[in-house]
Amino acid sequence: MKKKIIVGLDFDGVVAYSPLRILRLPVALAKRHLLGIRETHFWVPKTPLEKKLWSLAFSTSVFPGRGTALLRQLANEGIIEAHLVTARFSFMQNNLNQWLHRRGMHNVFSGIILNTRDEQPHLFKERIINAKRFDYFIEDNLDIVRYLTGRTKTNVFWIYNILDHATSYPYKFPYLEKALRAIVRSG
Ligand SMILES: [Mg+2]
Repeated sequence: MKKKIIVGLDFDGVVAYSPLRILRLPVALAKRHLLGIRETHFWVPKTPLEKKLWSLAFSTSVFPGRGTALLRQLANEGIIEAHLVTARFSFMQNNLNQWLHRRGMHNVFSGIILNTRDEQPHLFKERIINAKRFDYFIEDNLDIVRYLTGRTKTNVFWIYNILDHATSYPYKFPYLEKALRAIVRSG
């Protein structure tokens, strides 16, 4: 029997489609050019109000990404073993579980790994990817993709959005389905 392909997937922007993703590029550019921030660093909500607003912003990740049906099929057929790795902060766990149940996706993943220690997202993902030794990891955040380059043996696939489609990266895909097909092709 062929060996299963172990695939780690980010949630927001990969498994779930978020219309707000489009806002992230202007925010990243403003940080880099106006504020002169070059380091990869993510803001962490702390007060109840910040947490409320943060949950509200992520509640727009309502739609399943294009490719979730194929993801379910590949996992059911045993071609891939899917692991969800999300840097969502601990206070958003319920929200995520509800989404997966509502979409009938809670059985698709062999593992669901949440950022329960509220680590910086890029450091959290680096740690998990290297501990789990995925064959592939699918991520939509370009800062995280760039950070991971050279820091892991896992093939990092990037899901881009229309605003940053011009950015070159060897493994870039417009949505999950294309990334999964490329993974199945290359084995
Ligand atoms: Mg994401």
